[in-house]
Amino acid sequence: MCVNTLALLKALSNETNLQILSLLRSGSFHPRELARLLQRSESDVSRRLKKLEKLGLVEGRWIRLGDRNVRIYSLKVNEVKVNFLPGEVQVGIKEAESYRLPITFEDVPKTSFFVGRHDEVEILKNAKGKVVVVYGIAGIGKTSLLARVFPEAFWYSMNGSESFEYFAWQLSLYLNSLGYRALMEYLRGGGKEEKELFELILEGIDETESVIVIDDLHKCQDETLMRMLSYLAGRLKKGTIAVASRVKPLLGIEGVIYINLSGLEPGEAYELAKKIKKRIPVDKFAKIYRITRGHPLALILLLESSGESLEEAKENIFEFLFTEIYRSLTEEEKRMLLMLSIFEEPLEYEAIKTLYGGRKTFFILHSLLRKGLVERRGSQYFIHDMLRGFLREKETFESRTYYLEYAEYLIQKNTPRDFLKAFEYILKAGATEKIRELVELRIRRFKHLPGDFPKTYRRILSQAGDNPYARGELGIIYFNTGFFQKARDILLEVEDKIEGLFKAEVVSTLADVFLVLENLEMAERYLQKTKELAEELQDPEVWLWYYMEKTKYEYYRRNLEEALKSAFKELEVAREHGRSPEDEGLVLLHIGDIYLDLEQPEEGIKYYEEGLRVAKAYGLTFIEHVTYMELSKTHYILGNYRKAVSYGNRAVEYFLRIKNYRRAVDALAYRCVSWIGLGEAERAEEDARELIRIAHSTGYPLAWAGYIFMGAAKFLKGEDGSSYVEKGRKHFQDYPWLFEAVIQELERVFEFPKELKLK
Ligand code: ADP
Repeated sequence: MCVNTLALLKALSNETNLQILSLLRSGSFHPRELARLLQRSESDVSRRLKKLEKLGLVEGRWIRLGDRNVRIYSLKVNEVKVNFLPGEVQVGIKEAESYRLPITFEDVPKTSFFVGRHDEVEILKNAKGKVVVVYGIAGIGKTSLLARVFPEAFWYSMNGSESFEYFAWQLSLYLNSLGYRALMEYLRGGGKEEKELFELILEGIDETESVIVIDDLHKCQDETLMRMLSYLAGRLKKGTIAVASRVKPLLGIEGVIYINLSGLEPGEAYELAKKIKKRIPVDKFAKIYRITRGHPLALILLLESSGESLEEAKENIFEFLFTEIYRSLTEEEKRMLLMLSIFEEPLEYEAIKTLYGGRKTFFILHSLLRKGLVERRGSQYFIHDMLRGFLREKETFESRTYYLEYAEYLIQKNTPRDFLKAFEYILKAGATEKIRELVELRIRRFKHLPGDFPKTYRRILSQAGDNPYARGELGIIYFNTGFFQKARDILLEVEDKIEGLFKAEVVSTLADVFLVLENLEMAERYLQKTKELAEELQDPEVWLWYYMEKTKYEYYRRNLEEALKSAFKELEVAREHGRSPEDEGLVLLHIGDIYLDLEQPEEGIKYYEEGLRVAKAYGLTFIEHVTYMELSKTHYILGNYRKAVSYGNRAVEYFLRIKNYRRAVDALAYRCVSWIGLGEAERAEEDARELIRIAHSTGYPLAWAGYIFMGAAKFLKGEDGSSYVEKGRKHFQDYPWLFEAVIQELERVFEFPKELKLK
């Protein structure tokens, strides 16, 4: 085997590399966007890409954008074949039509030794199309059972700190790796609608026939996840959802199977006992079984203890056993155990080594592992919840320094997810003086975080009391999630308690909030404040915020020339400081919009097309398709109906696929009037029908235009369309201006009969 072959196999045995390869299958990517999707640091992703490129698996190429060159990566191969020949292993790389990467995300726990549970295994194996719930007390064997039946599932353990949105992101990556992309596209586009997310999750799980395991559901604090399970129950067809929980969750009866797990049968328990203590006398076993009633974890502990005073133990068997074993541990083992017990989640080996700080980490950890006190999952170690409880009652342990050190460790990892965890531990340690530093890190490195994980972040921040930096972040989240009044109140409250970059973010957001709330006077005042801070701080980030708000403000006031000037400044700052490509794509889109309003559609097209190049180069599919929609609209205005339809096709197909109905309706509306412009009544009718369908299911107002377009299409065919137009008008009752706008756009291509009074 040559060196390259080894390196290749090594690279392929790494989960993150496999995830990168599978993401690249859906298009070209810039390392930054990949890093965002994988929730890893950009430098880490870049390093991996370079390596994969050297191995011939991916291909990087320079693309010229404006005045810069950027490097974009795409997949070079579709298949890797390993050939075992006598005396040699050959690895061949091939292009093929389709392939499936075996990706597991969280490790499914290994169950090399497993006894009994034959009935339960049968039920679970036949649970296709169902939600199965395995419930029972701690240590009874829920996790082991699910891991045994579904070694290849998408495994997700709840630890109490996450919310639905994080689950959705992880699941989207998983489904993407199996070829189902809509969920990921939807989230990338900022989609947040619960109903749409549920629909996509259902479709994704069914289409890929996936098995999703959710472990420790009882720890889940987010009700959205419960609602998702209720939604999936009864609707799933080909996928499977398996849940482990200590308490029986109420998910209804239709499509749900409940399994109440109790102790092992005597024969099964005996097998387990023999595995631990080879020569255990039958009478001793009988005694142990009577006490433990086949509870596997209790059995394991009992066999580890000396078991001399068993009879005393009947009251609280676990605690008794644990105390006994604990007493026999070395001081080092005790410290390790106590250290692990202060963390709610499994820790990876590297973290344990850093925190424990001794050279003996590995040795001590494995001694505890053998004694059944510590468990392992992949490279992570943890104490069983039940034991952790006893330990906490028993001993007090100085946790603060460990929390702070762990937070440091997490921050080094430089991903949004680790950042959130670090934040939580810093608050647990009561180190409020560090909040300011963390918020700065969030602003500089994790811009998308308040938008991508608002619930998780909000929950963490709410533990920070009245710290003004944390309150400011809460305000930003409220703004991001559309609670403008709340955002206004909090941001006004903290404005004068913070300074510098923090204040700049708060005042620029306030400018935006007041604009949305249509308070122009205040918006202007806060715009001015932002400008003053930008001048004072000379921070490109702040300048960018200023110009972004300025563009919006001027646009809102219909000072289009001013808006355009400001938008070009935005573009300049964004390009000069290598901000996220997304910003650049968005600014170009806005410049196009402003030109359109200035009635210079040709100029608009120029910028839309430039934005399209950026979006395509960086794999920003959402922005790419918003741009198609705008191009469709612009060509409609120019009377290029064929072009309008062709751009419209791409936008409609995409937005329907990712269930972003608001955008889909915009695109459908322009395609529909373009068909009318072309005199193709049948096609127009089809689009009108689709609009009407969406209007009825979502209530999104513009979709009612479907009735009016339908009316126009009927007239076009020489039929009487007035009843449709009337229906449309009725639905638009509460939105007279929208009705006007629809008629106005339509009148570019169609003249209603005089007797139909529209105004
Ligand atoms: P739970 O998820 O219900 O808390 P676990 O699955 O973590 O319980 O099981 C607790 C311990 O018992 C684990 O160490 C596991 O290895 C062992 N165990 C449970 N069920 C079995 C089984 N059927 N065969 C062998 N060992 C088991």
